[in-house]
Amino acid sequence: MRFLLMALAFIVMSLPFAANAYAAEQNDELLKIEDFNQAPPDQTAAHAASFAIASSGAVFSDVPEGYWAKEEIEFLYQRSIIQGYQQGSQLQFRPLDSLTRAQAAKMLMLAIGEKEPTTIQVKFKDVPSSHWAARWISLAAQKGIFTGYDDGSFHPNDKLKRSQMSKVLALTFSLSNPPANAKNPFTDVSSSYWAYSYITKLYYNGISNGSGNKFMPESYISRDQFSAFLARAMSDQFRLPVSSADEGTVIAKGKVTAQTLNVRSSGSTNASVVGQLSNGTIVNVYSIQGYWAKISYGNLRGYVHKSYLKLQNVSGSVLAGRIITVDAGHGGTDPGTIGNGAKEKDIVLSVAKKLKQKLEAAGAKVIMTRESDTYPTLEERVNIAKQNYAELFISIHVNSASPSAKGTETYYDTSTNPNGYESYLLAKEVQAQIVANANMVDRKVKDEAFYVIRNNTVPSILVELGFISNTEDVKKLTSDQFQNIFAESIYNGIVQYYKK
Ligand SMILES: [Zn+2]
Repeated sequence: MRFLLMALAFIVMSLPFAANAYAAEQNDELLKIEDFNQAPPDQTAAHAASFAIASSGAVFSDVPEGYWAKEEIEFLYQRSIIQGYQQGSQLQFRPLDSLTRAQAAKMLMLAIGEKEPTTIQVKFKDVPSSHWAARWISLAAQKGIFTGYDDGSFHPNDKLKRSQMSKVLALTFSLSNPPANAKNPFTDVSSSYWAYSYITKLYYNGISNGSGNKFMPESYISRDQFSAFLARAMSDQFRLPVSSADEGTVIAKGKVTAQTLNVRSSGSTNASVVGQLSNGTIVNVYSIQGYWAKISYGNLRGYVHKSYLKLQNVSGSVLAGRIITVDAGHGGTDPGTIGNGAKEKDIVLSVAKKLKQKLEAAGAKVIMTRESDTYPTLEERVNIAKQNYAELFISIHVNSASPSAKGTETYYDTSTNPNGYESYLLAKEVQAQIVANANMVDRKVKDEAFYVIRNNTVPSILVELGFISNTEDVKKLTSDQFQNIFAESIYNGIVQYYKK
C-alpha cells in the first residue's frame, strides 16, 4: 500500500518538474546549490539535535510531512549523503532545484561508502584542483561512472539530465538487466536512444517509473527526484513495484533466417525500423498477424516479417499453428508425366491429400493449391501460398526418364528464394525420410530454380518421389501403402526440420 501511494505521489509530483527545470535554467541558480561540500551534519551537535527533533517531524522545512520523497530524502540525510541549506533557524533542501554533475558525482560516491580521496587521479581541464568537488569527480571518473566530454572537459556545474542520471545510477549500482522479454516502458525513449539500456534498467529495478508512459530523458533532474532514485538504488525498501502484466504470453520462439532482419515499430514495411536482428538470433514471439510477428529480443520489441523466422512452438506439437502449403503438381489438362499406365497428376494428388491429413492431425493449417483434378498455373500456386501467409511450401512431383533411372530427389532454390538455406535444410530432412522409409535410391538434394520454389520467399522444396518410367518405382508410386509411406516421410521430414 505504501509503495502504491508513493508511486502515485511520484507521478503527480513529477509532472511540474520539467517546467521547474526551465525556470531554474533561466535564473541560473546553480551556484547556490553547493551544499554537498558542507561537513556531514552528524559531526556537529547542532545538526545531531536538529535531526533528533526532525525524526518525529521533518528534517527539512521545505520537505514536510507527506512530501512525496520525504522518506527517501531523509534516508540520505541520515547517511550524510545530503546536508541541505541552513536558512536562519530552518534547514532547507530546495527539492525542486536542479542538480549539477559535480553534486551527483559526490552523492554517488558517498552512497557507495567512498571517502573523499586525497589525490586527484583523473584531471579534467575545467575542474581545477581547487574545485570543491574535484576529488569526488576524479574518483567517479576513475570508476568509469562519469567519462566527461571528448575535449577533456567535465562541465561540473552543468545540470544533470535525466538520461545522464540513469547512466550514472545504473553504473554506480551495477543495476541488473531487464528480464529477457521486457518491454520498453516509455513512449518517449526509443530503443536506439543512447541511454535506453540504462533507463530500462532503472524501470525494471523499481527505481523510476517516469510519469505516465514518459521518461523525459532530456529534462534536467531535480534534487528531490535524484534523491528518491538514489535512495531506491541504495535500499530495497524504497523500490517501486515493477509491472510486467501486459508482457503477453510467448507463443513460440523464432530463429532469424535472414542475414539481417529489420524490427519495426508496427506490422508494416512502412513502419519505422527500431532495431535489427542477425541470422540465428532467437526471439520471443507473442502473436502473429498475417505476415507480422510481434517479438522481443532483450530490450528490443517490435514486429518482424515472419517469413524470416523459423517458428518453433514452446509447447505441444511442433506443427501446431504452422501454415504449410502442399502443392500437388500438374492436374486438369496437364497430366504431368505418364508411364506404365499411371499419371503423375493422380499420384501426387493422392500423396498430397494424405500429407494434408497428417499435418492437420498435428495441428498445422494446410493450404492446398488444388484438391481435385484441376490446374492452377504456377503463378497461382505461389499466390495461393502467399495470400494465406504460408510458412513452408511443399511441391510434390513424379519423375520420368529412361527405364533404368530410379529413386528420389528433392529440390530447393538458392538463386532467388531468400530462404534458400532453410529450403536446403528442409529438403535434406524430407529426402532422408523418403529414402529410408520407402527404400528409394538416393538421388540427393539439388539446387534448381524451379518456378514454384524460386518465387516463394519461405522455405520451399519440390520433391520428385520416384520415376514413373521405372517399373520398380512405379509400383510404389501407385500403391496406396507406399503413397502413405511417402506422405508419412514428407511429414516426418517437416517435423524434423522444425525440431532442429
Ligand atoms: Zn511434375
